[in-house]
Amino acid sequence: MEGVGQRGLGVDGATSLIQAKSYRPHARRAAASPNEGRGRHWAEACLRWRTGNEVGLALLRDPVRAAWYVAAMSPKVPQAVGQGPIRIGISACLLGHEVRFDGGHKRDRFLADTFGRFVEWVPVCPEVELGMGTPREPVRLEQDAAGLHLVAPKSGRDWTRPMRRFAARRVRTLAALDLSGYVLKKDSPSCGMERVRVYGQERTGPPRREGRGLFASALIAANPLLPVEEEGRLWNPRLRENFVVRVFAYHRLRAFFGGRWTFAGVVAFHASYRFTLLAHSPEAYRRLGRLIAKAKEIPRPELQARYEGEFMGALSKLATKRSHTNVLEHLAGYFKTRLDAASRAELAALIGEYRRGLVPLTVPITLIRHHARHHGVSSLEDQVYLEPHPKERMLRNHI
Ligand code: SF4
Repeated sequence: MEGVGQRGLGVDGATSLIQAKSYRPHARRAAASPNEGRGRHWAEACLRWRTGNEVGLALLRDPVRAAWYVAAMSPKVPQAVGQGPIRIGISACLLGHEVRFDGGHKRDRFLADTFGRFVEWVPVCPEVELGMGTPREPVRLEQDAAGLHLVAPKSGRDWTRPMRRFAARRVRTLAALDLSGYVLKKDSPSCGMERVRVYGQERTGPPRREGRGLFASALIAANPLLPVEEEGRLWNPRLRENFVVRVFAYHRLRAFFGGRWTFAGVVAFHASYRFTLLAHSPEAYRRLGRLIAKAKEIPRPELQARYEGEFMGALSKLATKRSHTNVLEHLAGYFKTRLDAASRAELAALIGEYRRGLVPLTVPITLIRHHARHHGVSSLEDQVYLEPHPKERMLRNHI
């Protein structure tokens, strides 16, 4: 699925900005080699020339336009790792498929209309694919001494075994699609991720909200690192942002370890996530650093498994305004001697505005990225925190 932040857009965006005749030779050179150093260099030069410093700074205060501006300027990091579509599994009813027990759906507007523009959905309805039909008798989870059952309470039909068999099979076919995440329908006895109602055997008394749908259980057990969320939890902006970050990180991680990786590559990958990890879990960042320090003494499969587990575990911790502010202040430290007093004050003011909730995170980040480029701070090059994938950036702008 084509998205707004894809390859080539940057130069198209730059070209549309570069209308004046004198810029055209540069624009043509940029378009001829959009993803190489020279092309990128010309695109950047054109944009800088065209926008000028004041307009550039005005853009920084407009997060959506700033995202386009930056997308036009930064095709480098997104292409370094994680090529190919971002594919995400989803409970089919959330996309509007009429697969629910009553023949209806539970279309989620954010997922279908916004998120869907940046990712490739893989819709799955376990109950329909299993052959339960539509419409059908509703099912629920029941607990007895033998374990958890998926039961149609009116008829008493027990779907547990067929569902478990189907789920194991379907999860294997999904593995071949290389998913980068999964969105499940909350409360469903098949798809629900957590707090699904579980009824007692006697069918009396209130249900306990402690279950997980049978299909969701199989999915999560087979893919413990896969970013999985429920649509209900994605209504929370912080959980939603965290899901987006994890999806893109998992995509990159899989692309990296799926190739012929080297120890130097692991070091570079880890370095590129330095500030992202610090925002989510400074402890995990340090643990990963210690792991990498003795990487050559560890068998490769073990190193990969330990790095992947610790890395995704770290990102599953929610970053807070405070932890982002700490990271931004740390980044501002790189410009202590590089910026004049007025520029330092402007940066500090923007970080303060972010901390007080007046501007989104992308605003101080964009200014820091601008200064890093302008002053050639090589240690900040390729930082995912400063240069997220264009689709990730666009999605986070909707948060
Ligand atoms: S929650 Fe899952 S099983 Fe139920 S209708 Fe939606 S996709 Fe199908």
